[in-house]
Amino acid sequence: MTDARKALGQVVFVGAGPGSIDHLTMGACRALTQAEVVIHDRLVGPEILELIPPSATRIEAGKEGFGPSTPQSAINGMIVGHAGAGKRVVRLKSGDSGIFGRLDEEIEALDEAGIPWRIVPGLTTAAAAAATIGQSLTKRGRNAALRIVTGHDMAGFAEQDWRGLARAGEVAAIYMGKKSARFIQGRLMMHGASPETPVTVVENASRADERIVAATLVTLADAVAGLTGPAIVLYGLAPRRAAAALPLLKEATA
Ligand code: SAH
Repeated sequence: MTDARKALGQVVFVGAGPGSIDHLTMGACRALTQAEVVIHDRLVGPEILELIPPSATRIEAGKEGFGPSTPQSAINGMIVGHAGAGKRVVRLKSGDSGIFGRLDEEIEALDEAGIPWRIVPGLTTAAAAAATIGQSLTKRGRNAALRIVTGHDMAGFAEQDWRGLARAGEVAAIYMGKKSARFIQGRLMMHGASPETPVTVVENASRADERIVAATLVTLADAVAGLTGPAIVLYGLAPRRAAAALPLLKEATA
């Protein structure tokens, strides 16, 4: 490989959306089909992984809350290594790379190595899950702000502005909130949130096995207890129509 060819190494951070291929952008699709190396997270949908050219090197860099994971330094090293060797690298992350995606750490490693990069945004899970339950994430007269929060951070269960969240009408999209559901429930009730605050859990959003669990704050911990797939907690939102009585219109698959 010549030095000129080597200089062409670059990294595209691609947001894959929450799972369904329908949520992949055209830009993401183009970047994927042109990739020589794809380093992807565990949560990226199988239909999307099928778009990776067979000639490309495909690497899973697993990351799962509290579960087994590839250390961030090893992921950074892989990205820098392949791009430094002149490859077109796609770093494929679920949802949008800029939301709980450790994007900055990887960008910093590339900047340090002088490797060019760009970001292709993706549809974040909160948007897909809200669509599933027929709700909007902001609404005039209800909530003028949407909070995007995580259930846990590097220190364990994540502390939030509980007092602010406990106010009537607040809406939050809680990522990685399954293990911390009881903690979140306790904190919010301690700060005065109504036990009847609607809470909807969407498991496997946008995938074939998507599941909606309508709950309230007081039943949140029980609602997530049996879930095994990735799940997002939409705090302050109930499904617009009771799923059992009036199922939301599913897109016809021709
Ligand atoms: N960057 C991603 C979030 C990554 S953090 C985004 O923008 O969506 C991982 C968390 O995202 C999971 O613990 C879960 O809370 C949520 N998540 C990702 N995919 C999901 C899916 N298909 N259904 C429900 N939650 C999902």
